[in-house]
Amino acid sequence: MIRMEAVDKYFGTLHVLKDINLEVPKGQVVVVLGPSGSGKSTLCRAINRLEPINSGLIEVDGKPLPAEGKQLAQLRAEVGMVFQSFNLFAHKTIAENVSLAPLKVRKMPAAEARKTTMALLERVGIANQADKYPAQLSGGQQQRAAIARALAMKPKVMLFDEPTSALDPEMVQEVLDVMTSLASEGMTMLVVTHEMGFARKAAHRVIFMSDGEVVEDTTPDEFFTAPKSARAKDFLGKIL
Ligand code: ATP
Ligand code: MG
Repeated sequence: MIRMEAVDKYFGTLHVLKDINLEVPKGQVVVVLGPSGSGKSTLCRAINRLEPINSGLIEVDGKPLPAEGKQLAQLRAEVGMVFQSFNLFAHKTIAENVSLAPLKVRKMPAAEARKTTMALLERVGIANQADKYPAQLSGGQQQRAAIARALAMKPKVMLFDEPTSALDPEMVQEVLDVMTSLASEGMTMLVVTHEMGFARKAAHRVIFMSDGEVVEDTTPDEFFTAPKSARAKDFLGKIL
């Protein structure tokens, strides 16, 4: 579903993605771990072309990433992304936030959009918040709305970049629960997170990045019990 081949990315002279080769098959849940500055967010952003790459190849669903225009909009519709900050439109209601792209990009009729939106809000457990504004919701509810909004485009892949890092501790689990249920429904997911419980439970695979490189690519079991590289051991020593 996602394929990266020999991907390199620089910010000026800083080499932030170094020869990344990565394949995420359909239905797989991959958790990306690594220290701050190792390139995790850049990797995510490269996949829906929020960041252009300097060389290499990225394919989503068998198609190379388009450079711009209509095809890029199409790609972005297929790749849902959820960030640390919820990025909801403050002056639109939760339901309006979720239905905006289906109405505008997919040209979905209004009645159908409302129906789909309500079903999605139901699925993430906030149907009763549909007509409120983002500021009236808790952080956990806002993040679940952001997930519903990404799902509204019926993406083939979901990218999550530290979706629970900005949340109060008591709200982390409700967001992880939504992600876990998405994973069990077979969604292809790439998840940058520091939530080791989620990595152990929901991930099929763990990728450990350090200094722009994929240093380990293995099962959660193996990564947590028998990391191979010194860098991964050091990382685990600090967080576990
Ligand atoms: P964190 O865990 O702190 O979120 P990360 O693994 O997501 O870190 P990235 O945000 O991908 O790391 O950053 C990788 C490197 O690229 C870092 O050295 C960072 O300072 C640098 N970097 C990121 N974005 C830019 C930018 N827009 N311009 C210049 N350098 C950048
Ligand atoms: Mg990051």
